[in-house]
Amino acid sequence: MLYRSTRSGLTASDLEAVLQGLAPDGGLYIDPTLAERPFDRKKCLTLTEKGMMGMILHHLLPSFEDMDALVEKAYEGKFENDRISPLVKCGDDYIMELFHGPTSAFKDVALSVLPHLVTAARRQLGKKDDILILTATSGDTGKAALEGFHDVDGTGIIVFYPEGGVSKVQYMQMATQSGKNVRVCAVRGNFDDCQRGVKKAFTALNDSRLSSANSINIGRLAPQVCYYFSAYSQLLALGEIEPDEMIDFVVPTGNFGDILAGYFAKLMGLPVGKLVCAANDNNVLSDFINTGVYDVHRPFIRTESPSMDILVSSNLERLLYLASGCDCEKVKGWMKELSSNGSYTVDAETLSNIRETFSAGFACQSESDAACKKAWDKGYLCDPHTSVALAVLEKLGRSERKTVVLSTASPYKFPMAVLRSVGGDCTGDEFEQMETLEKISGVKVPKNLSGLRSREILHRDVIDKDAVPAYVEKILREGM
Ligand SMILES: *Cc1c(COP(=O)(O)O)cnc(C)c1O
Repeated sequence: MLYRSTRSGLTASDLEAVLQGLAPDGGLYIDPTLAERPFDRKKCLTLTEKGMMGMILHHLLPSFEDMDALVEKAYEGKFENDRISPLVKCGDDYIMELFHGPTSAFKDVALSVLPHLVTAARRQLGKKDDILILTATSGDTGKAALEGFHDVDGTGIIVFYPEGGVSKVQYMQMATQSGKNVRVCAVRGNFDDCQRGVKKAFTALNDSRLSSANSINIGRLAPQVCYYFSAYSQLLALGEIEPDEMIDFVVPTGNFGDILAGYFAKLMGLPVGKLVCAANDNNVLSDFINTGVYDVHRPFIRTESPSMDILVSSNLERLLYLASGCDCEKVKGWMKELSSNGSYTVDAETLSNIRETFSAGFACQSESDAACKKAWDKGYLCDPHTSVALAVLEKLGRSERKTVVLSTASPYKFPMAVLRSVGGDCTGDEFEQMETLEKISGVKVPKNLSGLRSREILHRDVIDKDAVPAYVEKILREGM
């Protein structure tokens, strides 16, 4: 029993953890022994990207049979090029592009694998019922999860997104999704309401058929560890770093999944210096890392980086667990304060453990726009989430270490915001804006996005924010 809930002594095997998503006590599954279990980092860094992925997933999820074959199958024909996460140079920094998958967002890296993990876990555990995947999305997870799970036997998927809270392109991507086992539903509320609704459905319905495609699921987090190793190995191959040299990462952060995977990489021995948490105007996380006080009492701001418009970041709970010395009573207390008072304060030791590795800053819209323009002046076109990361790097200042900025979405997913930042012509609809961007940048519009224009809208459900559990219950009862 490798996995434990962050909120009690509850344990689960890796297979069960992937299938359940959220632990029955509302906690998240984590392996408290990750830092102690030996991992051959040197060997890992010599492998191909898919080889690394297989080795890392096998380490994190050891009961899954034949992980290498699973990985091969998961990525077959999915990404634009052979390399899943290419590293490009922008001035003195490196940008790791994670958006060359089927939906042009970094979530494709993990959500290409997750359906294969879920079906393998279902098979190995001898489950007969179909698994119903619940997903709350701030814009990108939804489409990436739909792309991964549509028409996968033995599974169904429901995606909940905030009505009016995603970009036009993100909306089109989800609302046009075909597949016999998919539902897409707008919620009158913001992302936090969607996430709360999904968590409520889990605990209220307590149905073993439910699982999650959000980064609360360890099967979603595990594949994300790989690109930190990949970045390091690419820097080694370029001769930019010496073996064992520490490097920093700057991560545009929302639900704290991506950056937490970087922490897992560090616990597995990758020489990571700082992990810089970059937030947008919804700067709860950066305030927390700088002060130890998590406080959601602030307006929810809709920004041009909607996938980071989040006030309650689920995965922080896993970091709290590790940083407090695996003290599930403490974590449970903080989470209780968060849900009843909207805030909590961690003790000095926990905060100091966090700050040993993490630093944080935020960028408001104008700072982020300026960073986008500055990168463009150096010849690099980036999306508004990556712009936030670049702006925060600029604000905090560079360390003496090499820095890799994670680029989490294609600029074509947010053509209006990008055109505005670089001073381009914003007239026309999203698709005309994509074409304008293509003309000025010379980078081709990804086919998955240009093809959206002619697709039919298939999903029109809209529900109140309190109606998520009832919506799920009805589908469990009556089928898709
Ligand atoms: C989801 C997302 C993020 C935030 O990632 P988390 O793992 O939720 O912190 C950042 N940028 C983009 C484009 C995303 O889709």
